[in-house]
Formats: sequence, C-alpha cells, structure tokens
Amino acid sequence: MEWLIPPELTELQRTVAHFVRRYLHPHERAVEIADHVDPDLMRELKRQAVALGLFAFNMPEEVGGPGLPYLAQVIVREQLGHVSMALSEAVGRPAKILLDCQGDQRDRYLLPAVRGEQVIAFGLTEPNAGSDATRISSSAARTAGGWVLNGRKHYISHADIADSIIVFAVTDAVKRHKGGITAFFVDRGTPGLEIRRQQKMGWRGYGLAEMTFDDCFVPDANVLGDVGDGFKLAMKNITEARLGVAAHCVGMGQRLLDLTIAHLKNRQLFGNALGEFQGVQWMLADAAVALESARLLTYQTAMLIDNGAKDVRGQVSMAKLAATEMAAKMADIALQLQGGGGYMSETAVEMYYRDVRAFRLGEGASEIHRNQIARSLMA
Ligand SMILES: Cc1cc2nc3c(=O)[nH]c(=O)nc-3n(C[C@H](O)[C@H](O)[C@H](O)COP(=O)(O)OP(=O)(O)OC[C@H]3O[C@@H](n4cnc5c(N)ncnc54)[C@H](O)[C@@H]3O)c2cc1C
Repeated sequence: MEWLIPPELTELQRTVAHFVRRYLHPHERAVEIADHVDPDLMRELKRQAVALGLFAFNMPEEVGGPGLPYLAQVIVREQLGHVSMALSEAVGRPAKILLDCQGDQRDRYLLPAVRGEQVIAFGLTEPNAGSDATRISSSAARTAGGWVLNGRKHYISHADIADSIIVFAVTDAVKRHKGGITAFFVDRGTPGLEIRRQQKMGWRGYGLAEMTFDDCFVPDANVLGDVGDGFKLAMKNITEARLGVAAHCVGMGQRLLDLTIAHLKNRQLFGNALGEFQGVQWMLADAAVALESARLLTYQTAMLIDNGAKDVRGQVSMAKLAATEMAAKMADIALQLQGGGGYMSETAVEMYYRDVRAFRLGEGASEIHRNQIARSLMA
C-alpha cells in the first residue's frame, strides 16, 4: 500500500509504528490482565507522544495540533490499531467539538486537552437513546446564573477518569433536536453528579461509565456553543470520528493478519507448515482482500475530504462498515487458525477478538451505516 502514501507521510507512519512497538506494546499484556492503565504510566506515555508531536494529531495548528490533512490522520490512526484500545489512548485525539469552546473555555478545556493534560468525555448516549440520539431525555432547566441538570447517560468512554464531560441535555422539550438540545461541560466533582464504571467485554483498561445527574448545577460559563445548538455540535464532527474508527480497524486487521501469517509459517501439522494447506490459504487470501479493500476505501475517503468533497457521508459509512466488519472476520479467522492457543488469554488474538466487537456498535452500528449508504445512493 506504500504507493498510496505520499513520501512526506511515510516518515510520520514510521514514527507512529515505532512509538507503538517501542513504548506501547511492552505494556499491553499487563494492562489486559489488570484491566487498568496506571495513571503515572499513561501520563508518561502521553508526554512522549506530545514530545514526538503525535498527541492531538487530529487538531489544527491554531490550537497547538499539527494541522494534518485527513490522509495523514488516518495513517496515524491505522498504526494505533496495532495496540490495545486502552494504550492507543496515549496518542490522544481530543473530540473536535472542543474547537467550539468560547472565551476562557479554551484555557479551561480545549488547550489542556490538546496538551494531554485533561481528559474530556463526550456524553450523548442514554438508556433510551443510542442509535436514535434525538430521543435523549436528560434535561437542563434554567436557574439563576446557570442550569440544573437531571438525567442519566451510559456507555460513555473515559467518563470514569474524565476531568469534565460534555453532556447533551434537552433545554427545550418542544424543539428537542431541532434547536432544543444544549451541550454543557459538567466537571468532575460537581455536586449531584455520580459516575460508575461499567463492566464490559473488551477494551480492558479503557473505562466506559454510566452517570446520573441529580439536580446538578452548571454555570452559564459551562455552556458549550450556543444554547440550543447541542445536537448540531454533536453531529458536526461525526464523519471524522467514524473515519477514524475505520482507520483503527484497518490497523487491527493488519496486526491480526501479520500474527496469522507468522503462525501459519511456524506451525507444523501433518508433516507440513499449516500455511501450506490450500483450505487455509483460501481463508488467508479472502481475509487479505477484505483488509486491502477496507484500507483503500478509508484512504480514498480521506483523500476525498482533503480534496474538498462536500458530502462524504455515504463514503465514510462504506469505509466504516467495510473496516469494522473486516476486522471482526479477521479476528475470527486469526483465532480459528491459532487453534486452542487463539482462545487463550496470552495471545493478542484473543484480545482483538473481544476488542473488535465494539466497533460494529459504536460510532453508528453497521445497520445505521447501511441505511446511510442506501440514502446516499438514492439521493
Ligand atoms: C465501546 C463503546 C464506547 C462508546 N463510547 C461512547 C461515548 O464516548 N459517548 C457516547 O455518547 N456513547 C458512547 N457509546 C454508545 C454508542 O454510541 C451506542 O452504543 C450506539 O450508538 C448504539 O446505541 P445503543 O447501544 O443504544 O443501541 P440501539 O440504538 O438500541 O441499537 C441496537 C441495535 O439495533 C440495530 N438498529 C438500530 N437502529 C436500526 C435501524 N434504523 N435499522 C436497523 N437496525 C437498527 C443495530 O444493530 C444496533 O446495534 C459507546 C459504545 C460502545 C460499545
């Protein structure tokens, strides 16, 4: 795939690949076992990522990011798929919604997040509103000097460790997602905010949490964007986030393919290397075709955006669908070909088998992307 990558980005790709191998892989096994990343370790890894200019690689130069084109961003993100989700966070990618910070919010939230000093979570999903986020029911009512929040969110990435959570709440029950939802920074320690880490299948060391707001007071200064603009803000950067997931899954698929090829060459069965059996070769070939197809779709979509394409929603959905479904199949094939060893927790294959599953749900479930692709085709 090197011919697709302009020479000026090859060095960047090598730098991230080296960082992943040299600084992140050594901790992968311990993080899986503990289901925890030591905060001091994460601080140090982030410091190294900042020093290399990799941290906040999705951010523009005016706020301290590198201002990379989308193709460069997907190349970085792809390399981060070569390590567990938890450790990939060392090369953080703050939510782009933070670019809508106004006034002193830039110093309180945006700039510390870009420097890797603060974690800001994104709280949209609720028990009755996931794929259909227009149905959120958490509410914010006006009071002197601010707002009083009530409601519940769940499955929120990093809410367990976040310094602040961007919470979307209904401020006008009639307008709802058409001008009646507002985004608020709710800071850790706010009275009435309760956060509980949730148990899950994979992504060990990467917390998801549910939270409740019980008459939480949030000052006016913590409104992100304009009152009523929350839903628009939540959707504004969704395309980019989805393309990032596609790139991450391409990286996961590549590491799984590499592990599988190494195993097929080494494992001796019935007097042959396992990889010499035709049935196995066909599985490998089909998996490699799916991987390259997903990678091409992802790169092509990034290039379309870089070239100024206006509406890439259908294209992004194709990339996200292809890459997440490919990674899931790749994990299954990798585990099957490793035999019992693939089922054992010592292998990265077992970790990936659990980790890839989430990507067909988050950032739009596969079915939502099929809907979008069909809509774009028929527009
Ligand atoms: C690892 C992980 C991290 C997450 N991080 C965050 C986060 O940081 N912030 C946040 O706000 N949320 C987060 N989420 C939540 C995520 O966005 C939701 O899980 C997702 O939007 C799906 O919503 P749901 O779980 O309520 O499923 P539902 O909306 O109930 O959907 C269930 C299933 O129904 C099917 N379905 C839904 N709609 C349709 C349709 N129109 N046609 C056909 N089939 C359909 C799909 O198969 C879907 O998977 C995270 C989730 C996971 C798993």
